[in-house]
Amino acid sequence: MSLPDTQIPGVYHRRFGDILVTALSDGYVEMGYDIFREFSREDVDRMMARDHRISPPRISVNCFLLRGTAGTVLIDCGSQDKFGPTAGKLFANLAAAGVAPSEIGHVLLTHCHPDHSCGLTDAASGRRLFPNATVVVNRKEIAHWFSDEAMARANARQRERYFGWAREQVGPYRAEHLRLADDGDEVLPGITLVECAGHTPGHSTYLLRSQGRQMIVWGDLAHVPEIQVARPEVSMSFDYDPDTAAANRIALLRRIHDEDMLVAGMHIHFPGLGYLVREGTGYRVATEQWQFEIR
Ligand SMILES: [Zn+2]
Repeated sequence: MSLPDTQIPGVYHRRFGDILVTALSDGYVEMGYDIFREFSREDVDRMMARDHRISPPRISVNCFLLRGTAGTVLIDCGSQDKFGPTAGKLFANLAAAGVAPSEIGHVLLTHCHPDHSCGLTDAASGRRLFPNATVVVNRKEIAHWFSDEAMARANARQRERYFGWAREQVGPYRAEHLRLADDGDEVLPGITLVECAGHTPGHSTYLLRSQGRQMIVWGDLAHVPEIQVARPEVSMSFDYDPDTAAANRIALLRRIHDEDMLVAGMHIHFPGLGYLVREGTGYRVATEQWQFEIR
């Protein structure tokens, strides 16, 4: 008897108003305890065990495809080959969803970290992997990652993995296929960039409005939802400005909860959709129930 040892493709559809949202898994990445800033190993273990999670955390990486009045839009594009065999699944899952990269008209980036933007370009040839797409990103991201002064201040690992890879991946789009946006811009019909800086200088979320409802694609508002949604003050060691990241996370989580937004999270366990529920001094993500019919 032959039994499977991997899942079939990670694709999940959901309608949001007149938009078809498709969560596409890029896989996952195993992290270490050192990703947390000022949060003890014991506290990490305790909070992860509470939710029956692996510790140190395994982080899901999701991208979200939108199809509707704004055309075919991809929010973030995974990590390609930068994070080993458990990640880089976006293109296989896109194919499983029946969508060719050439059909994508816009790639919206939440920020230029490698698990979000390293699907843009074939590093060896410099070929754009989304040949008909315009990349949309917060102007502050490009200003930072393409700044030689900022790069000179970074350590060797940051220079390679953040500055180097951002330039490698975004560079080929820069001349004619890149659109810079600012906080509050309606970047496409019904899709507004809402800056939530701190994790990176221009880290952004995308707010979708359709038929009177709101959905937020929140990027890296939380890397480990079991911890950072419950304790929003906890920052990550790779946050550019941890205090600003925490303050903005606290404010945006409150808004998301108070305005009852549907959440799509890049690092919420696949398919990464849910709602915020108040719990103690923080929240938890109530993941959305699976449904067969797409409506
Ligand atoms: Zn990330």
